Amino acid sequence: MIDLWGEDPVWQELLRQEGVSFSSGSRLSDLAVLVLNRDPGEAEAKRIREYVESGGCLLAAAAHAAPVWPELKPAEKRLRWIAPQGDSPLFRNVGIVDIESRGWVLPDANIGVTDSGDKAIVAASRRRGFSILLPFDVAQVLAGFASSPRQFPAETPRFPYDTVARVGRGDVRRLVANCLRFLLARRGLPYVHLASLPGQAGGVFGFRVDTDFGPRQDLEAVARLADRVGMTFSWYVNVGAHATHLDLFADLARRGHDIQLHCQRHTVYPDYERNLENFRYGKAAMSAAGITPVGVVAPFGEWNPNLNRALEEQGFEYSSEFCLAYDDLPFRPIVDGRLDKVLQVPVHPICLGRLVAARASAAQMVAYFRSVVDLQVARHEPCFLYDHPERIAQFSDVLADVLLYGKERCGSVTTLTEFAQWWQRRERFDWSVRMSDAGLAIQAEASADDLSVVVEHGNSFFTLPAVTGRHPLATLTWRTMPEPARFDPRNLAARRLSLRLRASSFLRRVRKTLQGQRG
Ligand SMILES: [Zn+2]
Repeated sequence: MIDLWGEDPVWQELLRQEGVSFSSGSRLSDLAVLVLNRDPGEAEAKRIREYVESGGCLLAAAAHAAPVWPELKPAEKRLRWIAPQGDSPLFRNVGIVDIESRGWVLPDANIGVTDSGDKAIVAASRRRGFSILLPFDVAQVLAGFASSPRQFPAETPRFPYDTVARVGRGDVRRLVANCLRFLLARRGLPYVHLASLPGQAGGVFGFRVDTDFGPRQDLEAVARLADRVGMTFSWYVNVGAHATHLDLFADLARRGHDIQLHCQRHTVYPDYERNLENFRYGKAAMSAAGITPVGVVAPFGEWNPNLNRALEEQGFEYSSEFCLAYDDLPFRPIVDGRLDKVLQVPVHPICLGRLVAARASAAQMVAYFRSVVDLQVARHEPCFLYDHPERIAQFSDVLADVLLYGKERCGSVTTLTEFAQWWQRRERFDWSVRMSDAGLAIQAEASADDLSVVVEHGNSFFTLPAVTGRHPLATLTWRTMPEPARFDPRNLAARRLSLRLRASSFLRRVRKTLQGQRG
């Protein structure tokens, strides 16, 4: 069992995202791994030290571990990112982890490296036990909602970039999950979690279209591309620009496409009232055309708590904004200490237009998107790409190649709405698991035939249907994990932002500030 020492909604949501069974609340009995996620009191620190040194396993931020082992002496330091260095299982399928927060460097750190060149993580025995100490506080990092320009590694004349979440949520989660895998393995236990993919799929692929200002002929070209590759897409309609084409979207919905809302006016406001008005108008116009949207993607991938409140008020089930998260599993942001009603469904943030700006050739565009697909498959996570009608029409051969590759590599396709609704069933699934010498016992409230439990141990795994039952380990067929993605050293070069990019980021902030003041 994994226990979370302090009740913290951000940590709890991260563990739910991973789909692990855990308890919350300062217990040390019958425990495989302790996650120490707050400063322990003096008596607690003593108990925790005894627990670990007598054979327990601990994951903690360096700052929270310092009261337990006063000899640690973490030095506070601003932390931009940490990166893998050499081969460590803690960085399996994890690239650079963008932290952008207060951090703590420990002199005996031995895994990974920080942006200032210090070693990042301590993974070390403590007498008979073991601890992994991270140089940052996970909950504090994930509680931030800021965005900033970020370059993505590619074999292109310039790196493609967009304004995205400042924190690498997906990689923070994957790093934490790898720490848990490692610590459980120390205790001879597998990592057991609900699959991040429906059914027994090895991957799942989807394509999102933000309609923006695309002329009708381009919208029709997108629909032809969908037919050509045998997929249905998720379309997010800019109702203000496409009010006269709602018939086309109603027709696409009848043909199985997923038609949802982008906006009425193509902007995100800093305040609640204008956001509410924007999405209320858009939703009403679509409903009048016979389409009832349950999902939104906000213009420019922008997100703020007032947008979020407006989407909650309008009863949307989910939204997708890469300024909040990208390349991550769905999750609910914690706003004012409360779990959001609107599920966030992240996508990959780089589209064709960004690759055009990076001066990519057609072959480089294909190679870029194929590498994104490969990465998500290696992670056993869904892959969602997105684009706009003009670019899709202009580069339909490039995209046909990419979409067919994504379909083939992932092995199944979905839409954002279908996936968001599956994820909500996964969230509601109440289960627990126990390991014993006899095998694995799953206890579930109900059965769900599109959910499965993944059991990972070392380089092997197997999946089981998520239903109550006992599974003797000897009877199970182990499969080999997908080959992990190799760390791309271009990631390091991509962290150095050019003056041009800094300037454009500054102008964007000025524009948003002025928009706020216009009232
Ligand atoms: Zn847009």
